[in-house]
Amino acid sequence: MWPFGKKKEQEHVVGRVETPILLTNTLTGDKERFSPLKAGEVSLYSCGPTVYGPQHIGNLRSAVFSDALTRMLTSAGYTVKKVVNITDVGHLVGDGDDGEDKMQVGAKRENTTPEAIAERYTKQYLEDIAALNIDTSTITFPRASEYIKEQIAMIQTLEEKGYAYHAEDGVYFDTDKYEGYGKLGGIMKVKLMAGARVKMVGGKRGLHDFALWRHAKPHDLQVWDSPWGKGNPGWSIECSAMIRATLGQTIDIHTGGEDHIGVHHNNEIAQSENANGKPLARIWMHHAFLTIAGEKIAKSAGNTYVLDDVRAKHIDPLALRYFFMQAHYKTPLSFTWEALAASQEALMRLWKRTQEVKTLAEGASEPSAASLKIEAYLRDDLAIPQALASLNDALRDTTLSSTQVWGAIDAADAVLGLSLTNPPKGTLTLQELPPEVQKLALEREEARTSKDFARSDELRIHIQNSGYQVDDGPSGTIYTESHR
Ligand code: AMP
Ligand code: ZN
Repeated sequence: MWPFGKKKEQEHVVGRVETPILLTNTLTGDKERFSPLKAGEVSLYSCGPTVYGPQHIGNLRSAVFSDALTRMLTSAGYTVKKVVNITDVGHLVGDGDDGEDKMQVGAKRENTTPEAIAERYTKQYLEDIAALNIDTSTITFPRASEYIKEQIAMIQTLEEKGYAYHAEDGVYFDTDKYEGYGKLGGIMKVKLMAGARVKMVGGKRGLHDFALWRHAKPHDLQVWDSPWGKGNPGWSIECSAMIRATLGQTIDIHTGGEDHIGVHHNNEIAQSENANGKPLARIWMHHAFLTIAGEKIAKSAGNTYVLDDVRAKHIDPLALRYFFMQAHYKTPLSFTWEALAASQEALMRLWKRTQEVKTLAEGASEPSAASLKIEAYLRDDLAIPQALASLNDALRDTTLSSTQVWGAIDAADAVLGLSLTNPPKGTLTLQELPPEVQKLALEREEARTSKDFARSDELRIHIQNSGYQVDDGPSGTIYTESHR
């Protein structure tokens, strides 16, 4: 049984799906009208984390993108069967076939086992994404190490069909046997150039051939028996095998970061489509990177921040989610602490405003041109920045009734997932604070006026310790009851 939410009423499905959903498909390069294989149901697989350390905020952009997509499909009436893999073996440093397994690197770093590392950082990943309003109870998270049998079975099929061969250090996929290799993102055209960087091992035939199974090396910490002797799986085979085991041979949508187009996803296609004789995914969606100073955030670049760094600066994790929503998923987004602080301020104002509307509308929601416009933007390849701008227009539009404004908030937040319909209680002005906190806040304002920033910072900590976040904006300071 799937842990997915209740299926919506049929009339509801028919009524809501009418506004077309358009998605950009990396396979064709076009924005296509979406319709799933099975009426009313969407199978969705997102490449998830390698759990050898805490996930950086770039990885979290990936999770929020896939969540917004899921929410959009759900609010259009579909039941989404969603799977996110947990890579706990097989992903080598450098994404290629030579280098140490990342899990082994993590285990050595923390003087423990790969299993303990996987446990620790899977838990942390799930906590992090939950803090970003991602409902983990509706997602299946298969672990690569729990699907070794399925991976071996798929490699055996590829061997039987003549797509695999033996090299010195393992079993490889023969990319020359597969005409379509590199079709995702048009990699075929640059095949040789890209391949020039790949190191050749003894017996490896083609530059693009990749490991399906690696023979155990003397210091390997994760080793399994196989028809080819003791060893461990290549990186991409886990996704091919787990997709087939959890969602079937052909799925509706496969997502991941654009770094995976070139190798990992083309390898998944080569394995699955030749083993199964069927297309792997009908739509491939790729999001752009989160960058710092023009560079991709990556562990190897040493420019990473994690969610705890965000919390340490007293920034709500949802402000990070809001920040991600400032750019379309296909556009790189440049991270700075200033921009994140501005997102925190904007979100707190939004919360304050939606709370006011909630009171006025008494929770009653009415559709209007504003809510339809927001919905249309969201279904148009997740045009979230435009949907947010339309929401802001609706919040200022005096011709709308409060129930219509609440309808617009409702339509937007179903996909944005920013707790706009249930804002943290108590987004308050100074006058609304409890007297003892108000005293601290007044003292802090005086300190700020007289430019005594040391004192003002000290008082900010006192206020935060009393349970209120402090945010200074151009039109005054806002206080929010801490909720996470
Ligand atoms: P990994 O653990 O490296 O396989 O990454 C997990 C997911 O995060 C993949 O879908 C990557 O494409 C994505 N990812 C990694 N770095 C970034 C980044 N800087 N910005 C956005 N997504 C990223
Ligand atoms: Zn994958």
